[in-house]
Amino acid sequence: MKIHLNPNPNPESDSGRATKIAAGGFGKYYTDNLVVAEWSETTGWEDAELKAYGPISIDPATSVLHYGQEIFEGLKAYCQPDGGVSLFRPVANAERFRRSAARLALPELDTEDFVATVEALVKQDHKWVPQNIGESLYIRPFMFASEVGLGVRPSNHATYMVITTPASAYFNPNKAVNVWISTEYVRAAPGGTGAAKFGGNYAGSLLAQKQAAAEGCDQVVWLDATERRWIEEMGGMNLYFIKGKGKEATVLTPKLTGTLLAGITRDSILSVAKDLGYKVEEGMISIDDWRDGVASGEITEIFACGTAAVVSPVGSAKSTQGTWTTGDGNPGPITMQIRETLLGIQHGTIEDKHGWNKRVI
Ligand SMILES: *Cc1c(COP(=O)(O)O)cnc(C)c1O
Repeated sequence: MKIHLNPNPNPESDSGRATKIAAGGFGKYYTDNLVVAEWSETTGWEDAELKAYGPISIDPATSVLHYGQEIFEGLKAYCQPDGGVSLFRPVANAERFRRSAARLALPELDTEDFVATVEALVKQDHKWVPQNIGESLYIRPFMFASEVGLGVRPSNHATYMVITTPASAYFNPNKAVNVWISTEYVRAAPGGTGAAKFGGNYAGSLLAQKQAAAEGCDQVVWLDATERRWIEEMGGMNLYFIKGKGKEATVLTPKLTGTLLAGITRDSILSVAKDLGYKVEEGMISIDDWRDGVASGEITEIFACGTAAVVSPVGSAKSTQGTWTTGDGNPGPITMQIRETLLGIQHGTIEDKHGWNKRVI
């Protein structure tokens, strides 16, 4: 896939860009350019084009608007101590994008094409990468069914795009989030789309998120669909439980059963925690294990993780069975150590032993 560079002839001024980056938030402002590529069943992928960011025009009968055939990715570019910019594990995102495409009957995009299009856009818009630790340029590649027609079938036309937005710290790391464990709604079921980064998974989660808010909680925690017993994820993030304290602690995360989304942050933390000398475990954790572990003091810390927030401490949990709080409700030492280590690797201040960073400039 060739990438034709036709960058925005009127990019944001230095002061306008600085104001937008300083405004913080997540997804409020977009950079000067985007990448787009079209696929059709008969001719395959066409060349990609990098061009000015702006609205797109689509026919009201475009398939994605009716049947939701859409996938996406999320990754970040981080500023480096020498003024350069690195992407964090873009190949892992490319591979997951291909798995999501296969599940949603969308065309697969080669790993090299995914990485090259992301890299081209970040290189072009590198001045938008925020300069503070914990801040980054969030990159959103996505693909949708762009065939025009109301027939229910895999689209014979698809559109791939990449957009980027400067991101400040998404969650406040110094304040734990409180969660509502939903026993009424599920995010994913065996045989379903839970392992794919598919827009519809999010659409189906919003009512439970609203219910969590009505219960006074920040986020919803999902249980498995079959037994409504096993902890799966929190909102759009994976979960970690810390058992014990200090060097003897075990860092435990729900194993990938096919209904969890295989987070790249989750996977990175398995390595980081091991490197820090902790015992690491992927297993099954029930709602009873959570409540009893907190009551006995065996579970000392809990956090959620994902690209957007990196690591986010979890404080109290509320369900139809009551409310219980981990530790003193504040972020614990191992949570903060893992967060600082991962952020250090991403920002190039801690050695990147696993070769995760891909230098762009
Ligand atoms: C994206 C996502 C995650 C986190 O994945 P990362 O690769 O770490 O960003 C976790 N759960 C769900 C449902 C997601 O969509």
